[in-house]
Amino acid sequence: MSRALLIVDVQNDFTEGGALPVTGGDAVASAISAHLAAHAGDYELIIASRDWHDADGDNGGHFDEEPDYIDSWPVHCVAGSDGADYDPLLVTDAITHHVRKGQGAPAYSMFEGVTESGETVGGLLSAAGILSADVVGLATDHCVRASALDAIAHGVQVRVLTDLVAGVAAEPSATALAELAHAGAALADSGAA
Ligand SMILES: [Zn+2]
Repeated sequence: MSRALLIVDVQNDFTEGGALPVTGGDAVASAISAHLAAHAGDYELIIASRDWHDADGDNGGHFDEEPDYIDSWPVHCVAGSDGADYDPLLVTDAITHHVRKGQGAPAYSMFEGVTESGETVGGLLSAAGILSADVVGLATDHCVRASALDAIAHGVQVRVLTDLVAGVAAEPSATALAELAHAGAALADSGAA
């Protein structure tokens, strides 16, 4: 058994009441916590990411007062703010590594992030000999998509737990899941995982 759980961006700004909320974000946070309560022991590594942007500047065009919601966004997940913190519905006790991404530049994939001591997700997976990873979190059509694609590119067998993700928009989210399946990811319900 050398499986990792990758928890993408379950943060206040991406759940209900946040700056850039995903409908169903709170429900996903709770469902991931239930999954952890039952299955944390199944994972050798449990890595969670947080979008973590600079308060000054536009973070490489990532922030825009008139966002297109494709490449530019309202201000969100400013480092150290309440919006950047994990949603309180996510129980974080079992998380083994925390990575932050997006300081000064857009970073959709958690593979672009680093831990406090500078470790990357790819480095952590390689060092632990991880062969497979379950991917969960927010948002399906952006950071989950990018993180899962990078996990596949890293060479691990990826499974997206489709009841533990939520997207910004329905159609791009469906497209993202189809793209991930085409790239080799398995799509599964956490109950069947
Ligand atoms: Zn961001």
